[in-house]
Amino acid sequence: MAQDYDLIVIGGGSGGLACAQRAAEYGARVLLAESGRLGGTCVNVGCVPKKVMWNAAELAQAFGDSAGYGFQASAPHDWKVLKAGRDAYVLRLNGIYERNLAGRKVELVRGTARFAGPHTVEVDGRLLGAPHIVIATGARGVLPDIPGVELGITSDGFFELAERPESVVVVGSGYIAVELAGILASLGARVQLCVRGKQLLRSFDDMLGAACAVSLRDEGVEVCLEASAAELRQRPDRALALRLRDGRELGPAAAVIWAIGRGAQVEGLGLERAGVPLDPYGFVRVDDYQATAVPGIYAIGDVTGRLQLTPVAIAAGRRLSDRLFGGQPERHLDYQNVATVIFTHPPIGTVGLSERAARDLYGDEVRTYGAAFVPMYHALTQRKPRTQMKLVTLGPEQRVVGVHVFGDGADEMMQGFAVAVRMGATKRDLDDTVAIHPTSAEELVTMR
Ligand code: FAD
Ligand code: NDP
Repeated sequence: MAQDYDLIVIGGGSGGLACAQRAAEYGARVLLAESGRLGGTCVNVGCVPKKVMWNAAELAQAFGDSAGYGFQASAPHDWKVLKAGRDAYVLRLNGIYERNLAGRKVELVRGTARFAGPHTVEVDGRLLGAPHIVIATGARGVLPDIPGVELGITSDGFFELAERPESVVVVGSGYIAVELAGILASLGARVQLCVRGKQLLRSFDDMLGAACAVSLRDEGVEVCLEASAAELRQRPDRALALRLRDGRELGPAAAVIWAIGRGAQVEGLGLERAGVPLDPYGFVRVDDYQATAVPGIYAIGDVTGRLQLTPVAIAAGRRLSDRLFGGQPERHLDYQNVATVIFTHPPIGTVGLSERAARDLYGDEVRTYGAAFVPMYHALTQRKPRTQMKLVTLGPEQRVVGVHVFGDGADEMMQGFAVAVRMGATKRDLDDTVAIHPTSAEELVTMR
């Protein structure tokens, strides 16, 4: 098979685009195959349209708050206007991504790629070869194995909703479930959140899940705990009803959203023809250098199941190209201490170890500091949501190994603290940093 390219990238989402463009900047001949819209999940049905919806929900709350500041505002909301603006913005981004590829001379092929052999990919009727092939095909929403599952939608379907549903059941307890529940409730929908366990956001510091549950309830969301879905059915009046295993029923609802995790998108990719193994959860197994078990085949981003976040996919893709084409043989992504934001209302910002994870690892060496307060903005509003913060420190030098914030501004606060944690900042370093006043963030450098 002729080696027409130095690199073939399968998937034009966050990871694939970043990997392809970085390789091309080093002079590699790159082909990128994309079966859908450029930009992948993040741009089309993920971070970007979600953040637009989050902004709308924040505005809805601000309208409610504004009376305390002397405004007389009433704000009927038009979902159609919001959706049209959002869709147009995403379309503009699709065009920008295409132009960026052309500008860097990355060849774009529209179509579904599949392996024909270890170093051969078939796409759009063409058989293409390259010494390096990157799988960047992303993930898709997992569906529960219950009768009537097809009556529900995933987050992809949420972004297609032409009108705001009056009532929604959201099933799940992770990022997508709490984000969509918050957005829908703030924009006026009646929301039930169906959580199979006893807490939300179980993989994060316990404080965050607990604070999130309180704020969702304050927004009017009915948080149903220990609620395992058993069957979804459509009633004669067309409303949906979700029967739980213990006999309870949620609904009636105009929509049911499944948000129970995202599994690797590898169907039809022909991985077996290339001999690329999956891990027990169906994700493409890679080593620290994003390499699969087959020489010359790599995987990045959501399809590997490791921290399914856009900046992680981008960083893994760029580092891989630095390594393959940029003369940096040891370059790879460190998955530790990646900061992340959950766009609830208020948002959650978090980096590093939860208190529980730190105690499991280090026992009594762990010391935590906390703060809880109503931020000054709410001195004049009817709502009194509390901001909560936690620092997790380790050892006698009190190295900061975790920073967890639930509160207004947490989203913008956390990037800088991620740098501090990465650099090994101690509690003393935070204490020695002069505060910025009046802000919420100042509490993080004044904790006792
Ligand atoms: P993707 O972006 O999914 O790209 C994969 C691409 O591969 C797709 O375009 C697909 O069409 C293409 N493809 C698949 N199979 C083939 C094939 N056989 N041939 C050709 N092309 C193929 N992350 C954040 O960091 N912040 C957020 O706020 C955030 N919000 C999110 C909200 C939602 C609702 C969702 C679902 C996700 C969110 N994420 C967020 C996660 C983020 O979107 C993903 O981590 C990121 O998009 C992963 O990038 P990727 O390149 O691995 O995959
Ligand atoms: P998450 O992994 O965040 O959460 C899914 C949760 O659903 C699990 O933690 C689990 O919680 C619960 N669950 C699993 N199976 C079932 C089941 N059968 N029935 C009921 N509940 C179940 O996945 P999401 O789908 O929310 O999001 C996928 C990924 O996308 C995220 O992990 C994140 O990486 C990314 N994302 C990032 C965002 C951001 O950066 N702001 C926003 C949205 C998505 P438990 O075990 O406690 O029951």
